[in-house]
Amino acid sequence: MGSFKQGACNRKGRVIFSATGVEPAAIYQYQWFPRWVISKLLNPCKKVSNQKGIKYSDWCFTGKITDNPKKDKICELCDKEGLRWEFEIKNDNNSETLIVGSSCIIKFSEIIVYDEHKNKIIDKNQRKAHLDNERKVYIRELSLKPLRILYITGKKHYRHRIKQSVDFLKEKNGFRSDHLLFLFKKMESLNIVYEPSFYPVYLGDEESRTQLEKIILFDKNALVLLFNSLTSAQRKRYNLFNTTQNND
Ligand SMILES: [Zn+2]
Repeated sequence: MGSFKQGACNRKGRVIFSATGVEPAAIYQYQWFPRWVISKLLNPCKKVSNQKGIKYSDWCFTGKITDNPKKDKICELCDKEGLRWEFEIKNDNNSETLIVGSSCIIKFSEIIVYDEHKNKIIDKNQRKAHLDNERKVYIRELSLKPLRILYITGKKHYRHRIKQSVDFLKEKNGFRSDHLLFLFKKMESLNIVYEPSFYPVYLGDEESRTQLEKIILFDKNALVLLFNSLTSAQRKRYNLFNTTQNND
């Protein structure tokens, strides 16, 4: 079994070990280490070295976001576990990248965030709004991918309904409940994988609200399909609880 060599402390003063000469099998015997330590031992140590005296102003948000439903990554700046949305930052000097949570980009205000005109965003609230919007754009794109598959692989008469739904989404930032039900049922019938929580339900007018109310009252199976698309505020409004798993 290899031996651990004590290394430097990270920003929080916790001791980090170098992985020189340590076999993965040996590392797993150290079950009492937190998962983030084991992760860093098994991964290249370049990430660890970056935490020593990191100069945040050398780093910028690349615009790349990745959805990680498994939540098995840690933020490489603050070690927070269970990262769902991975934001990538890059060191302009050496092109090294780190995966971090959006809250760290907001918290470490020297990390550069550019707006669409390549201007640096300084204000904390504006940085948050920008990152939130980037995530929304990314989720929108993730939601459209399965619909494109449905458009290509589904029956030809689906196409008009799909286009109608997407046009409505672009105008209202949400789907009508009946549109969404149609899309979900057809995707399920063709085994197209989709994440219901990426498809917001529009309830901004009387007609949309009445549609959903009818589903709640008369079609429990449809409600199960739609449940994960409803926000917690929408569920609360209609007293909907525990119908199915919440993936928020
Ligand atoms: Zn963090």
